[in-house]
Amino acid sequence: MSDAPGNPSREDATVVVIGGGQAGLSAGHHLRGRGFADAAGAAAPDPSFVVLDAEDGPGGAWRHRWASLTMRTVNGIFDLPRFPKPPIDPDAPSRVAVPEYFAAFERAEHLPIRRPVTVTAVTRADADPDGDLLVETTAGGWRTRAIVNATGTWNTPVLPVYPGQESFRGRQLHTRDYVDADAFAGQRVAIVGGGISALQLLEEVSRKSTVLWYTRREPVFLDGEFRAEVEGRMVIERVAADVEAGNPTGSVVSYTGLIETPYVRAARERGVLHRRPMFASIEPDGVREPDGSFTRVDVLLWATGFKAHIAHLDPLGLRNARGGIAMRGTQVADEPRVHLIGFGPSQSTVGANRAGREAAWALAARLGVARPTGARRGAG
Ligand code: FAD
Repeated sequence: MSDAPGNPSREDATVVVIGGGQAGLSAGHHLRGRGFADAAGAAAPDPSFVVLDAEDGPGGAWRHRWASLTMRTVNGIFDLPRFPKPPIDPDAPSRVAVPEYFAAFERAEHLPIRRPVTVTAVTRADADPDGDLLVETTAGGWRTRAIVNATGTWNTPVLPVYPGQESFRGRQLHTRDYVDADAFAGQRVAIVGGGISALQLLEEVSRKSTVLWYTRREPVFLDGEFRAEVEGRMVIERVAADVEAGNPTGSVVSYTGLIETPYVRAARERGVLHRRPMFASIEPDGVREPDGSFTRVDVLLWATGFKAHIAHLDPLGLRNARGGIAMRGTQVADEPRVHLIGFGPSQSTVGANRAGREAAWALAARLGVARPTGARRGAG
């Protein structure tokens, strides 16, 4: 992997992992386990890897979750590979507790993580289908044989557009910018969205404010429990079938249906769970309902989800005409140098773990990296 003349700042790594959340840490752990060494300095060993992460510190998107999302109210955070969580106070905010746990993992594993480094573009070095990839970042460039993209969704919130939106005089925000319910005390808050986050915020905000809950489709609440090993597996199979077929994936809730979480039950019991059909347009002081009536609203809270944050991969032209990316497991079907993890069926903490392992093992096989004799690390 020699660098092009005139580009002295480019470093080499056999594999570049982009993103240092749960998926990226899992990939790093398993690459290490498969015999990849740290890419450090000009004379990188072969095979080697590096993790580039845009954050200032450990934790991935958990660093930014809203303050009231505690370890008790998250859906369950799967352990990092071979690193059980220590006992954690259930009332600790996840945005503090999870980054602390990730930091301990990083200290124990000594992974080669560079921060803060944002990848701005990935391109092909030349037309050779087995040639190198070039990774451009806010802190120099890399030349690599393959990438494992683990950039999550948090930085690409979905923000629908409605007529008159720009005229609204109140406050508009996305889940991503939500801090706590006190910010809206005494106000009339329209919450838009039919997923888990929308319902968590509905229950919370309705304790301090008047909440009006809007969804495009009638929410379908699941009968009974959502069992990871039964319903969870079926959801994963459906998402995996969509990404294999190269279909753009829908929202999480479009696959899972609405789960009767403690939040949902609490909101129902308090009589605040009243769904309204999506409003037709937005006016300076409120929204126009589909039947033509007007509803005054002070705040529009868009709990409308997130999409894969992968604009930096656009130069590779991975998307098909439908906007999807056809996958074979974690690998992009027709670009074996690119793996996407924490993507499609692996958008959960357990999925991120597994996908990190799958990508590392697939790349080790493709690049002809023999597993170190007697190696046990990375097997978990
Ligand atoms: P992230 O944690 O988002 O990490 C991505 C990392 O990549 C970040 O550090 C980011 O800064 C970095 N990055 C992004 N772009 C670049 C770039 N261009 N260059 C370099 N670095 C970059 N799942 C569960 O299993 N249990 C839960 O309870 C749960 N709760 C959730 C609650 C909310 C509100 C949301 C939105 C999701 C939740 N999920 C939950 C899903 C879960 O967060 C994810 O599936 C998993 O944690 C994501 O890990 P990740 O590594 O894929 O992404």
